[in-house]
Amino acid sequence: MIQAKKSLGQNFLEDENTLLHIIEAASLLPNDHVLEIGPGKGALTDKLLDKAAQVTALELDERLISFLKKRYSGRKNFHLLHIDALSYKPPSTTYKIVANIPYYITSPLLRHYLFEQFLDGNPPKSIIFMLQKEVAQKIMAKKAKHSLLSLQVHMFGEPKWICSVEKRAFNPRPKVDSAVIKINVNEKAKLDVDLKKLFWLFKVSFAQKRKKLSKNLSNVLNLQANEIKERLTKLGINKDIRAEALSIEEWGLIYEAFLT
Ligand code: SAM
Repeated sequence: MIQAKKSLGQNFLEDENTLLHIIEAASLLPNDHVLEIGPGKGALTDKLLDKAAQVTALELDERLISFLKKRYSGRKNFHLLHIDALSYKPPSTTYKIVANIPYYITSPLLRHYLFEQFLDGNPPKSIIFMLQKEVAQKIMAKKAKHSLLSLQVHMFGEPKWICSVEKRAFNPRPKVDSAVIKINVNEKAKLDVDLKKLFWLFKVSFAQKRKKLSKNLSNVLNLQANEIKERLTKLGINKDIRAEALSIEEWGLIYEAFLT
């Protein structure tokens, strides 16, 4: 019996319906290469192996490595790596990510596999993540309320809500509710700008979330808040706006006006 380790975010998925939802949403083709982060005891891996040409699974827990090696000893399309998923360099050929991830590294995983691989020209075609429901909602940015995380995701892809998942779908049960989302990754970023500079702009604009954009920008651009407000009005943007309310197109205008 392998006892779940809290420190590694181990909540093993046991609900067959949720597994089927994930597999259906992945729409895998027979020649697909799937990257699975944290295969655990293999609940999802079983199904991925039946659908895809290759499955590369990254697992940090040594006990699970021995378990999975035995379990899949006859499967030629299974490649298991004992590695921290945050230090893995993905294949340079087309791949899709499907994973019930450890929640404690959700943002670093998105940074590594979406933003950094995108900048390196090697992003996945799509990402399916089971994650904390609250974080999934934040990424979806419903009611046009963006966060730093949602903007970064929307810049490269289209997030889609797949399903909510109750605590009882797991063993042991997590403290939080979960959800599955799919991000179809675009070939081009939504704005044709220097992405590193744009990400800096996002970061400084969200530095003090409750403050107006003009205030946050005046702290770093060497301009008075009033001057910034005048320029925003000229761009057709509400001068009192907060960063969370800006659309991607408005970010494009602000980038042009203040960073070029
Ligand atoms: N996929 C399995 C399932 O659905 O039942 C397990 C999911 S569990 C939420 C997360 C898994 O990620 C665990 O197996 C854990 O050991 C593994 N893990 C945690 N941190 C990791 C890391 N940095 N790199 C790779 N795997 C990690």
